[in-house]
Amino acid sequence: MIFDDWRSWTHNKNNALLIAGPCSAESPEQLMQVGTHLSQLGIGVMRAGAWKPRTRPNSFEGKGVEALKWLKAVKQQVPIKVATEVATPQHAEAALKYGIDILWIGARTTVNPFLVQEIANAVEGVDLPILVKNPINPDLALWQGALERIYNTGNKKIAAIHRGFSSYQKSKFRNTPSWQIAIELKSNFPSLPLICDPSHIAGNRDMIFEVSQKALDLGYDGLMIETHPNPEQALSDADQQVTPEGLSKIISQLRFAKKHSNDALFISQLEQLREKIDLIDQELIEVLSLRKQLIEKIGDYKKENNVTVFQLERWNEILNSRTAWGNGKNLTSEFIQEIYKAIHDESIRIQTEIMGQETEKKK
Ligand code: PEP
Ligand code: MN
Repeated sequence: MIFDDWRSWTHNKNNALLIAGPCSAESPEQLMQVGTHLSQLGIGVMRAGAWKPRTRPNSFEGKGVEALKWLKAVKQQVPIKVATEVATPQHAEAALKYGIDILWIGARTTVNPFLVQEIANAVEGVDLPILVKNPINPDLALWQGALERIYNTGNKKIAAIHRGFSSYQKSKFRNTPSWQIAIELKSNFPSLPLICDPSHIAGNRDMIFEVSQKALDLGYDGLMIETHPNPEQALSDADQQVTPEGLSKIISQLRFAKKHSNDALFISQLEQLREKIDLIDQELIEVLSLRKQLIEKIGDYKKENNVTVFQLERWNEILNSRTAWGNGKNLTSEFIQEIYKAIHDESIRIQTEIMGQETEKKK
């Protein structure tokens, strides 16, 4: 799938696709105030939820169609595009009627292929960017499926929004980022713009900067940051919203690295370092292959002596000694243990295969 460059569909004056605005549209004044401020910061798109999917009943569920009218009024007065969440085909039809520029599909909708398809049908043939948030569960195929349903309507103005994944386990994040899922999506579809939503990942405004910086360092194309004139009084997601001033500070402190550099010195130095890495990786593979030959000998030996493949004491000793050796060489315990678990799993697999061959021969 080949997607359009996001620069073709926003007013963005920054070198990343920045979307900001309140979690929920609460009043015409709130939207006009934020929209004016955001546009002064060079932000191309203002977000605001008209319909709010809430986990528990009796929470604020959005102003609906009324909010669409307020969003329309902002874009008539301020040079900024407006975006809202659609969770049903009826939402999408209403958003089109009121001239909303960009729609996004929320995490709770991406999980439902029927709804995503109905929304896709409702926007078929309409020239409107559609952003697709990750599903609440860490399922890359489901996320890709939703993107494909939109793409199949002929729309190439699509972006993915990474907002983290629900987890029962307590963590410092409201929604666990599991960065590798978004990175895999980006490697499957390199032209797909990938936006990070640090607000819903973090769940509190103190972590917005660090999550945003991490996303930019990973090469994300943009950020969607919840911004409210008075976050403490917000009707939804009060803990994670920042003021426009707070947003301005975050943006000024973020490091927007270039994805590539044409600087000849940089390119030649990078090439030299990569050549060294290539040599070291060849050595690593060589050493792993020598290790494998020893494992096969051990497998044969255990088989002859009728001894089990897995030896708990030996495994504990390997793990402890290698962790200590690694620490002595400035490598973290987590890293060494990850690697040794993979090496040990493979060793068990190889030895179990040898044991199996033995039994077959005996038959
Ligand atoms: C939101 O953007 O306010 C929202 C409800 O997000 P999500 O779908 O990521 O929970
Ligand atoms: Mn929100």
